[in-house]
Amino acid sequence: MTDHPNDRRDFVKTAALAAAVLAVKDAGFPAIAKGAFPMILPPLPWADNALEPFISKNTIGFHYGKHHKTYFDNLNGMVAGKPEADMDLVSIVKSSAGKADKAAMFNNSAQVWNHTFYWNSLRPKGDAKMPKEIAGKIDASFAGGYEGFKKEFSDAAMGQFGSGWAWLVADGGKLKVVKTPNAETPLTTAATPLLTLDVWEHAYYLDYQNRRKDYVAAVIDNLLNWDFAEKNLPKG
Ligand code: MN
Repeated sequence: MTDHPNDRRDFVKTAALAAAVLAVKDAGFPAIAKGAFPMILPPLPWADNALEPFISKNTIGFHYGKHHKTYFDNLNGMVAGKPEADMDLVSIVKSSAGKADKAAMFNNSAQVWNHTFYWNSLRPKGDAKMPKEIAGKIDASFAGGYEGFKKEFSDAAMGQFGSGWAWLVADGGKLKVVKTPNAETPLTTAATPLLTLDVWEHAYYLDYQNRRKDYVAAVIDNLLNWDFAEKNLPKG
């Protein structure tokens, strides 16, 4: 039955999807091109068990496979037939920010972006050596250098009441730590996001229950992707 019209159509569809997956992988984050909707959910940058024992495969399965995917599916449903269908993800986040009639568009698009940024902010435990440029900026920006950064980042993650995010950003030539509630993101500000930590309960509850502090410490000490932070530094 290989010459059945439906088979042919399925093959073309599958081939196109495979090409889209490759394009996303090759271009790196945040490779979501203009007019990319309906697009594919960007793949995880590592295997779902790669962050163990600090973040379990079970947590990644729900967090990526359910939470992130739901924001993505909601957004795809929402942009259909709207001008946003021809916009790239970052433009959708920025153009819907702060608009009461676009709250759902903002929440879902920002959460798609924030989560993709979060996955890339983490990497399996390995050689934790910090690249030179970001190491210099950390030393220049925080009293106490890396230990000062650690304390501020941890305080932001712990101090975010309820759901939200802790961020390391570049702003006016210096690095800063900020926190945002819910889907809010520094993407809509003058600052450049470098790294983020998801402190919504779904990010840690299966592994740490109410112990947000243990999750925050485990990620800071073992999983932050400093190569990604270095790549995000504004050039020039
Ligand atoms: Mn999350």
